[in-house]
Amino acid sequence: MVQVTLKRGDITRVEVDAIVNAANSGLRGGGGVDGAIHAAGGREILDACVQLRRTVLPGGLPTGQAVATTAGRLPARHVIHVVGPVYDPVEDRSALLRSAYTEALRVADDLGAASVAFPAVSAGAYGWPLDDAARLAVTSVLGATTAVREVRFVLFDERTHRAFTAALAAAS
Ligand code: ADP
Repeated sequence: MVQVTLKRGDITRVEVDAIVNAANSGLRGGGGVDGAIHAAGGREILDACVQLRRTVLPGGLPTGQAVATTAGRLPARHVIHVVGPVYDPVEDRSALLRSAYTEALRVADDLGAASVAFPAVSAGAYGWPLDDAARLAVTSVLGATTAVREVRFVLFDERTHRAFTAALAAAS
């Protein structure tokens, strides 16, 4: 089974095989963790994203899906871009958020990645309530069938770290 660890910090600095980006469908970079990854990783990541849009993803990366690029100057070897769902208080989109995690692990398996770091997908600009985002993240990863050995959740602030700590305790 995959080993899950939690860490507070900046995902761009983490030395794992692959880090996951909470991207947007256009793969053009943006704010939050997406902006941080492109800023720290350099032009190579954006060039790879543009190339994907020109070839296999003309309509963009669908919500709940994942695709890999180079990690440019980052210490990680790959960036796995996922698009989490925007939170909707009426429509239950949790299957799409689960899918973002499991699809990222599927792409990690294709890459032969043994260690993967995730941010709190959809828990920032996309507005997902933090405790629920943490629960869905942790249970999706623990329930996934994958060859990835270590998943590290890298949480940017104390509040998010606390929510993931509680979710992991509840799930273990
Ligand atoms: P989304 O649009 O999927 O909600 P955001 O980037 O807005 O994505 O937020 C997702 C999470 O990533 C938030 O908890 C935010 O605080 C966090 N975050 C922002 N920058 C970083 C970073 N450098 N490393 C790790 N997490 C980050």
